Formats: sequence, C-alpha cells, structure tokens
Amino acid sequence: MNNFEQFEKNESDIRSYCRSFPVIFNQAQGAELVTTEGKRYIDFLAGAGTLNYGHNHPVLKKALIQYLEEDGITHGLDMYSAAKERFLETFNRVILEPRGFANYKIQFSGPTGANAVEAALKLARKVTGRSNIISFTNGFHGCTIGALAATGNGHHRGAAGVPLTDVSRMPYANYFGDNVNTISMMDKLLSDPSSGIDKPAAVIVEVVQGEGGLNAASAEWMRKLEKLCRKHEMLLIADDIQAGCGRTGTFFSFEEMGIKPDIITMSKSLSGFGLPFAIVIMRNELDQWEPGEHNGTFRGNNHAFVTAAAALEHFWTNDEFAKSVQAKGKLIKERMQKIARKHGPDSLFVKGRGMMVGISCPNGEIASAICKEAFANGLVIETSGNHSQVVKCLCPLTITDEQIDKALTILDAAFAKVMAEDIANQAS
Ligand SMILES: *Cc1c(COP(=O)(O)O)cnc(C)c1O
Repeated sequence: MNNFEQFEKNESDIRSYCRSFPVIFNQAQGAELVTTEGKRYIDFLAGAGTLNYGHNHPVLKKALIQYLEEDGITHGLDMYSAAKERFLETFNRVILEPRGFANYKIQFSGPTGANAVEAALKLARKVTGRSNIISFTNGFHGCTIGALAATGNGHHRGAAGVPLTDVSRMPYANYFGDNVNTISMMDKLLSDPSSGIDKPAAVIVEVVQGEGGLNAASAEWMRKLEKLCRKHEMLLIADDIQAGCGRTGTFFSFEEMGIKPDIITMSKSLSGFGLPFAIVIMRNELDQWEPGEHNGTFRGNNHAFVTAAAALEHFWTNDEFAKSVQAKGKLIKERMQKIARKHGPDSLFVKGRGMMVGISCPNGEIASAICKEAFANGLVIETSGNHSQVVKCLCPLTITDEQIDKALTILDAAFAKVMAEDIANQAS
C-alpha cells in the first residue's frame, strides 16, 4: 500500500485530484503514467488537457535538454530573448498567418490560464471603457477574482470571499435545449435599454466547455454570437485554454467555423510539455496597453518558449497530425456511443467534439463510481459538468490506437459494473 503521510501532514487540504487517484506517480511517457510501485496507468486526464502531445514527448524533451546544456536563458521577465524570438516567429508562421490572423499580436501574461483571462478581461474593459462582461452558464475561466466572476461553478465561486461583480451570465448554446435560441434572447436583452443588462465590453466564451461538461457550441451558434458581438459593439473573447492546441481536431477550436474572435486566450497545452505558459492573442488595434500595465514575474518562461516552438514545428507544419486527431476522436466517440447504447440506451449519452468527448451519466455519483472503477483497473479518468456527471476523455492526442482500445475496454467494463449496480439498487 502507498503511504501518503507526507502529503496529509504537510500539504493543504486544498489538494483535490490526488484524492481521486490515491497513488504516488513517479514517471510518465506518452499516454502512460507509472507509480513509485511500478504500476502503469493509461492517462485519460493528461493534466486536464495540458499534455496534448503526451508526457515527455521525445522531440520536445530533446529540444529542452539541448537548450539547458547550452545555458540558454531560463527566466527573463519580459526581456527579449532568442527563445522568445523563435517562439514568436514560429507561432506567426505556423499558426497565425495560415489561419488569417497575421494582424494579431501576442501578449505574454503570467503563466496560468487564469492570468491570461484576467489580462483579456482587463484589456476589453480598457479598450471599450465599459466594465460589464457577458459570460455563459457552466463556463470556466479560472479561479482568480476577475476570471472567477466569469466562471459559473458554485464551488469555486463560493471560495471568493468577495462579491464577484461586473459579469452578466447568459445561457450557453442549447442551455434550454435545441429549441430555444439563446442568441435571440441575448439580442433582445441587449437591445432593451431597461433590461438591466449594462452594455458589455466583451463576451467571453469557450467553444467547447471543458470543465462545464463538454457542452459544444455549434458553428451556427458561434457565427451568430460573433454577429451579435458586432451588432452590440462587444468584443468577442474565445477562451481556447482547454479546447485549443488541437484538442478538437484543429489548432483553434473555432477554426472551421469561419469566425474571428477579437481576443483569444491560450495556455494549458501551449508549451506542449506541461510547462506553465499562457498568452493573449489580440487584434493589432486592440493592443492599447501601456508598457507594464499588466505584468507578472513569470511572463518569460523561456523553457516553455523552447518546447512550444518545437511542438509547433513538429505537429503543425502540415495537416497530418490534425487528421490523426480527427480520426482518433471519431474512434473514441464511436466506442463511447457503443458503451452508452449497451449500458444505458436511455440514460447515457456522448458529448463533446474531437478528442474532447465524454459520456454523460444520470448523476455525479454514477460518474464518480465509474471513474473509481476504471482507476482500479489502470485508467486515470475524471468527471466534469455541473453535477460532475460527465465521464470525460482528455487523453493525449498522441495516444496510440492500442491504448485507446485498452482504455475503452476498461471503461466499458466499469460502465457495465456500475450501471448494473445502479439498476439493482433501484430495484431493491
Ligand atoms: C483551465 C482553464 C482555465 C484556467 O487555467 P489555469 O491555468 O488553471 O488558471 C481557464 N479557462 C479554461 C477554458 C480552462 O480550461
């Protein structure tokens, strides 16, 4: 048995993921985690979407080791460095220019997603001179006060300790089902000077809601949202922190929808190696910052610049990787649909897009029991959603078909066991 005494004695009770996965991890490669006792797990959590290219990808690792050996700059505040120059050049050439974002600039914020969101919200408020922000039901944008105000999750909001203000919550796509057009609803509220909704600076949206339960907005809804933003002169902020970097099958989650957000936030898998790194991408005209107005000591994580540039060169200079993600996403979705049909044709359904998919269960207890059973059999997988009812797959995009097969076989067995127990409980 593992001994967790050190953690329980010295680490704050705030710890959370470790409670679902009570082992001590020691090594990892690709989509596999290894504990101190040598037990192997397939990783369907992947740092909550931070390890899209897997653990310790050999190409990124080699680039980082070489950089370290050459005594490359590690920490550089926001000073110019060769590594940062290389990242900017690569990101522009490989990502921005081919996607029609050549007239966008990059801000290096503090290295967390929440800090990029804080910067994006501040910038939108500064540029428009308005304070209100529209965010959506079940949206997640981080746990610092500004980002938390835009976040829906009651558990996180409850810890704020201060009023969370200057955000108007609106229903996300399909929040009221397929037949309610939440865009016309917003349009009416925003057009009515007495609706009580102050004219917003911006709308912040996840194209697929990661923590909120894999709710995926349709291309049509996103296009209408963009139009609504133009009509009411609100900036459109796409929070692509979790859905970006290839998770949905394209580099940006909104790429094939034909929309152009004014501001994009990225973090999680941006460094490609699990190193802290976040950016705000903004239309050139919006770059109205004064020098140092939003700063942060760790804006210059040069190791992250090195691995991020290497990841862009390795995965994104042609469409081979994107195509493989789309194929694997399809494979996982089909397997999940089979599981849902087999163990709960009326109560289980598959949600999400690309390799950001999961199975929605009747309640959080069932989803949690399924994850626990899967973990006992060698699969690290977590829940998400407003009732933690969605068993969520966030495996590395580099996972092999054999590993997918193995993981979904474990998941199938876990659903079989827990759903049968649930039926037995209902009968008794
Ligand atoms: C994880 C996440 C954040 C917050 O990132 P942190 O690095 O945890 O602060 C913000 N937005 C989205 C969509 C996320 O998934």
